Amino acid sequence: VKLDPTVIIIFGASGDLTQRKIIPAIYNLFIDGLLPEPFCIIGIARTSSDDETFRQQLRKGVDTFSRRGKSKDDDWSKFAATISYMAADYHDEITYRNLLEELNKGWYKSANKVLYLATPPTLFTVIVEQLGQQQVFRGKTSYRIVIEKPFGRDLESARMVNQVLTGVFDEGQIYRIDHYLGKETVQNILAFRFANAMWEPIWNRSFIDHVQITVAEKVGVGKRGGYYEGAGALRDMLQNHLLQVMCLVAMEPPTSFQADEVRNKRVDVLNAIRPIGKDEVEKFAVRGQYGKGVVDDLPVPAYREEENVAADSGRETFVAMKLFIDNWRWQGVPFYLRTGKHLPGRVSEISLQFRPVPHHPFSDKVMQSNRLAIQIEPKEGIMLRTQAKEPGPGMKIKPVEMHYTYQEVFQSSSPEAYETLLLDVVRGDPGLFMRNDQVETAWSVLESVLEHWEETSPADFPNYAPGEWGPESAEDLITQDGRTWLVPACLEFKEKE
Ligand code: NAP
Repeated sequence: VKLDPTVIIIFGASGDLTQRKIIPAIYNLFIDGLLPEPFCIIGIARTSSDDETFRQQLRKGVDTFSRRGKSKDDDWSKFAATISYMAADYHDEITYRNLLEELNKGWYKSANKVLYLATPPTLFTVIVEQLGQQQVFRGKTSYRIVIEKPFGRDLESARMVNQVLTGVFDEGQIYRIDHYLGKETVQNILAFRFANAMWEPIWNRSFIDHVQITVAEKVGVGKRGGYYEGAGALRDMLQNHLLQVMCLVAMEPPTSFQADEVRNKRVDVLNAIRPIGKDEVEKFAVRGQYGKGVVDDLPVPAYREEENVAADSGRETFVAMKLFIDNWRWQGVPFYLRTGKHLPGRVSEISLQFRPVPHHPFSDKVMQSNRLAIQIEPKEGIMLRTQAKEPGPGMKIKPVEMHYTYQEVFQSSSPEAYETLLLDVVRGDPGLFMRNDQVETAWSVLESVLEHWEETSPADFPNYAPGEWGPESAEDLITQDGRTWLVPACLEFKEKE
């Protein structure tokens, strides 16, 4: 498909996201010949700079963060020719008047224009309102606006941001990025479920005992303490990435991959999540904060000792939750979600634990149930655990794994999530982006937890050491149901190696 000429305008172009993610992704699309012609990037930030200095700064980002490694001089000079820089004040209307005047010249005039807000979230509404005062965007499908999470910090603020956005743009022009949805393995959940006839009949309460979703980081909060103090694990990870992954696992089969068809099915899951009453929060949600300890033989500070973190901070660096989906398919099946910093490894995985066999005639008293692990990262792949007869006399049962990794099967590096997402913005396909109702429903699911945690300060923080799977209460959350947290497959295999 031939794509229309496109201009990408990045606000906050001197920042970390532009350097680490946006530009390396656009560069890779450029090298793969996937971008339209003509194409160009206009970077906007407050810092005074010129085109050449800006390009050099971006090249450092590409050389460090692109999955392709260092750029070749030839490639880079062709790519750099598409980039220009504008120093500007976000609060001054002249910025927007100049920009929009520029965008009305030459080939820009008829091109698609992507306004990418890579600024701190406090500026989202400022920029959108300023843009809206200059001209009408609504209905002009050549204009698209991209915003990054966080989409608000609770239901009320998310509604406020959405109101400002939809006051200036149509919902169809708004692309809210949750980069998890751009990951190949996350998209593969749909292929796995709906391109194979064998799973659908057993993908329900009759066969699945429970589901676990783990998104673990090995690192601590590092230099992002200032941001994290205002966010925490629930807002930063669970409200978006984990809930969206849960939607893909739990949604009903779509009739097509039309953007709104899939998004409707995803939001149906959020709407069906059983609300947690304020007096039930402690039964369904657990929070933790890491203390000081040792990781890979090196001492690491407690969260409360990190830069820009209060010495008595009550901010959670770990959260575990149990959720139920009140619909026909999932009634009674708990979804256990956990995420946090300074956990035993960097790993994202979904595990579907099947019910035990109804009767077992084997002499082994303990037998593992079937388990399907969808490994999102770092080892992208799928593992199915079944039981096999161990060779030798008698009927001795042993768990064995059927396993594939993307690397073995496809033998090429997957595109980065940002490559997929940016190309979709250029193509005008919003399917992998968050619609306003998805964002707001996800906040409303967690409202009682957010409120309860704001009102009660945790008495036991810090309550886990770096390298542990969160606090003991996270164990209790699942063991009280007669279940246990599963070691993610890639860590389990590492232990065996
Ligand atoms: P950042 O580096 O903190 O800020 C981006 C740029 O905005 C800065 O280079 C700075 O440029 C400008 N800026 C900073 N503070 C400002 C202020 N108070 N007023 C006006 N301009 C200011 O942010 P980022 O890490 O790139 O993130 C950009 C957005 O993406 C944020 O909304 C963030 O939450 C989201 N996000 C980031 C990541 C990530 O990995 N970094 C991941 C997910 C989402 P000048 O001073 O030159 O104007």
